[in-house]
Amino acid sequence: MAALPEPSSILTFVEARHLVEEHAARLRPRGKELVDLLESAGQVLAEPVAADRNFPPFPRATRDGYAVRAADLIQIPATLEVVGEIKAGASPEAAIRLEPGQTAAIMTGAPAPAGADAVVMVEYTSRYGGRVEITKGISAGDNIVPIGSEAKRGVRLLSPGTRLDHAAIAVAASVGRTHLLVYRKPQVAVLSTGDEIVDIEVPPGPNQIRNSNSYSLAAQIHAAGGEPVLLPIAPDEPSRLRELVADGFESDLLLLTGGVSMGKYDLVEQVLADFQAEFFFTGAQIQPGRPVVFGRVPSNAGAPAREAQEHDFSRADKSAEGGAISAQGHAYFLGLPGNPVSTMVTFELFAKPILEALAGMTPRKLIFLHAKLKSEIKTKPGLKRFLPAILLGEFEQAEVELVRWQGSGDIAATARANCYIVIPPDRERTPAGEWVPVLMR
Ligand code: AMP
Ligand code: MG
Repeated sequence: MAALPEPSSILTFVEARHLVEEHAARLRPRGKELVDLLESAGQVLAEPVAADRNFPPFPRATRDGYAVRAADLIQIPATLEVVGEIKAGASPEAAIRLEPGQTAAIMTGAPAPAGADAVVMVEYTSRYGGRVEITKGISAGDNIVPIGSEAKRGVRLLSPGTRLDHAAIAVAASVGRTHLLVYRKPQVAVLSTGDEIVDIEVPPGPNQIRNSNSYSLAAQIHAAGGEPVLLPIAPDEPSRLRELVADGFESDLLLLTGGVSMGKYDLVEQVLADFQAEFFFTGAQIQPGRPVVFGRVPSNAGAPAREAQEHDFSRADKSAEGGAISAQGHAYFLGLPGNPVSTMVTFELFAKPILEALAGMTPRKLIFLHAKLKSEIKTKPGLKRFLPAILLGEFEQAEVELVRWQGSGDIAATARANCYIVIPPDRERTPAGEWVPVLMR
């Protein structure tokens, strides 16, 4: 058996997170596929999407009212001659041209007529047969969006690496894309370890624990844009663990849970060392999740070279690569602590950027929102805390409060939470009413 990583490297949270982000920046997705627009929601765009026409394609009225020449309304009230009505979708052949003193009734979304430079809202008008009285002045440009002002034809609207949310889907639909090229989802192997852990189909013995981590991780992997591959549970025994770790390196990323603490049967790091692992850190100064391990193995160390060969370096958006060294030839792993809440938190903090990069995304920065603390929190200093909490209240009155929990094994408490309160390592007391950083779930 190979030696353990020496010396063990326990980083601060920020150091560990930045290290993961640096490695993530070098990773590339594995391939591309063409999918139906509707299917593409949540996937990562692999091609640029450009405007196929000007946006808007005509000067668009944004109000129901009267199209006018602003210069006709210098003296208010003013009475103008109504020369027509323009509705949304009006045919270009029926186009009107406004001469001085003239106006046309116009509907929201309709093309403003030639000669008009503003639209007066119907609320400020009174119609008398073929004439309309206008009681409010207006500036040129009001309530008309000029042709091409949102985007000129040919301009890039979406870049490769964009996660396709509903707004991006709207853009693709508005330029007539029925299909989009997206990156293939990365496969993420999940290997839960521990002699006490049993499959959820199996009735557990009195001292056994059902495997919940593989399932919580699978859900987190899905949400982050990956495809989970659940491996059988590994016992705390090196040879079987080694076999399953080798299977795990067939995927684009291997996540292990359990077996990374200091106990006699915590074998994960030793077994990874057998694969010539390079350990970037073997712990982070956080709670929960302190024993988290991050590293990589060379692809020829029992892990197949497939990852290296099939990596896709032909991204259209070269600038997004930022000249980073490629990470080809390596398979990355994270050893997450087995306590269920530690597993969930360390996935969010450290696995997500790697997974997002493998999915083709420019990994997102971790952003904490702030909320007002409802009740005082006391903590022992030394570690950055991510404590399960509930953000409650309504509208602008949000408050956040810890859930009562029994520590990082308490799944039930965590399921009642919807976020984590982040406490810096030097705080012993955080008073009620303070604005505290919150990591949303
Ligand atoms: P370990 O990190 O292996 O020391 O495990 C820490 C704690 O997490 C122990 O109480 C384990 O029983 C529990 N645990 C480990 N793996 C899992 C799992 N896959 N599902 C649920 N609990 C687990
Ligand atoms: Mg264990």
